[in-house]
Amino acid sequence: MSPSQPHVIVVGAGLAGLAAARDLAAGGATVQLLEAGDAVGGRVRTDRVRLDGTPAAAGEPAFQLDRGFQVLLTGYPELRQRADLDALQLHSYTPGALIRADGRLHRLSDPFQVPQALWQTLLAPVGSLADKARLARWRWRLRHGDAETPLRGPQRTSAEALAAEGFSATMVARFLRPFFGGVLLDPQLETSARLLNFTFRMFAEGAAAVPASGVGALPEQLAAQLPGERVELRLGARVTAVGVGPEVYIGTERLSADAVVVATDGAAYTELTGQPAPSGRPVTCLQYAAPRPPVEEPLIVLNGEGRGPVLHLSVPSVVAPQYAPAGWHLVSATVLGEAQAQDDAALQAEAAAQLREWFGSAVDEWRLLRTERIPYGQPVQTPPALDEPYQPARLITAGLYACGDHRAHGSQQGALRSGGNAAAAVLSDIGPEAGR
Ligand SMILES: Cc1cc2nc3c(=O)[nH]c(=O)nc-3n(C[C@H](O)[C@H](O)[C@H](O)COP(=O)(O)OP(=O)(O)OC[C@H]3O[C@@H](n4cnc5c(N)ncnc54)[C@H](O)[C@@H]3O)c2cc1C
Repeated sequence: MSPSQPHVIVVGAGLAGLAAARDLAAGGATVQLLEAGDAVGGRVRTDRVRLDGTPAAAGEPAFQLDRGFQVLLTGYPELRQRADLDALQLHSYTPGALIRADGRLHRLSDPFQVPQALWQTLLAPVGSLADKARLARWRWRLRHGDAETPLRGPQRTSAEALAAEGFSATMVARFLRPFFGGVLLDPQLETSARLLNFTFRMFAEGAAAVPASGVGALPEQLAAQLPGERVELRLGARVTAVGVGPEVYIGTERLSADAVVVATDGAAYTELTGQPAPSGRPVTCLQYAAPRPPVEEPLIVLNGEGRGPVLHLSVPSVVAPQYAPAGWHLVSATVLGEAQAQDDAALQAEAAAQLREWFGSAVDEWRLLRTERIPYGQPVQTPPALDEPYQPARLITAGLYACGDHRAHGSQQGALRSGGNAAAAVLSDIGPEAGR
């Protein structure tokens, strides 16, 4: 390695670590990317399984289980800049939702993106006409400035922001809480309104989509773009300590470098550096194989009744048929909040009872493929969190840097951009241009 080439260790190959590695390599560094898991992606991964839940072989028809319900918002500037979205073969959800209320499903569409659904939307008993006008006004107001302008807006909780917009209790309970509570993994809507507003703008500006082969295709594509001559990716490499030097340990193996970038989630970051990070919001996802889809349109289904553990549900195989083998559909149900405290058997029974009430006896034919529990779904970001949308990448110890959504905002955009920020800080401190 030439002395003008800094050698950087990046710990974690989620979106943040992948973005950091790419920018470091592009800036002239050589990089060791150390990932504890058996694949890249972190929270953005997809597993291919058979009907009995066991891993499917390559090429075998399979269910594609994303690790929790997740979409790519094509409005994210970092996604547009870093990913080849065409190559991901995106399939989009229809903007809007089906809302379970008063014992049936009602459609609420974004009339700007789906004008033909305007009347259905206006007539849906999901809030008053004034509420729908408020939604349009809020949407219009957020479209000013650059994409991240909402992240610098008024600092308060999401619930306070919705109250300030004047939405009725019905509109909040039936649509806004299940929709944005689901997106923010926070049904109490305590998250900073900055993230709420940013997310709403991103939904308005682009599509909510999944790649044909699952959300895990995004990090796989980012990893494939890394130049092999500059970036060495080590899977199954769990870093057990990070120290001054800077250096890292994988058990007894010691690796040193000019700089170390810790690109893990918040909990692992605290373990490795001793520095505080936001705790995580947990999320649980129940995935079922169904002979027939409970809804036949690419729309998310929201719990507007406030009863039962499932907050929202989708049928990814209706959006992208590759999500299930021929003759089957994949149903993905998300549970948030206190309902997650139950053990698997109790939760599964309660969810099944709720879904039977929604979709009838057809649910008895569904087969549970997986109950996925994710302890650190997104960082808790209640105000004053996000006073700054991006925390500095440089840590107090010289040569140590950090990135990840807990240093930014809980989103793919936040993770990718914080990875880029960390790479820029490293390169400006020790890159080939430094000191010239
Ligand atoms: C169910 C769910 C749904 C979501 N939906 C959306 C959505 O629709 N849109 C959106 O924008 N965002 C969504 N998010 C949030 C988004 O997925 C995250 O913000 C983003 O992926 C975080 O990326 P990251 O790189 O910061 O962290 P991570 O993805 O957590 O990556 C950290 C990596 O570090 C590795 N690691 C940890 N410890 C070590 C160690 N000691 N040594 C080596 N490696 C280690 C981990 O294995 C992991 O690969 C969702 C999250 C979840 C869980």
